[in-house]
Amino acid sequence: MSTVARLAVELLTGPDVPLMKECGNPECTRVYTDRSRGMRRQWCGMDSCGNKSNAAAYRARKKSAPAEPAR
Ligand SMILES: [Zn+2]
Repeated sequence: MSTVARLAVELLTGPDVPLMKECGNPECTRVYTDRSRGMRRQWCGMDSCGNKSNAAAYRARKKSAPAEPAR
């Protein structure tokens, strides 16, 4: 087996496997280990993807969900 494959197997059978997640950014293919409290992390990194995605989600929310109509 190549070193890369062996490393992958070690990763896939290691204690961190349940914590492995794919980044929530569709443009990002990185996999990260979620050690955050509650495992609510969605991004490989807050600086690289989290902030960007949060801003995008905020904009999308604003666009698709306009303020409630005044009564
Ligand atoms: Zn990412």
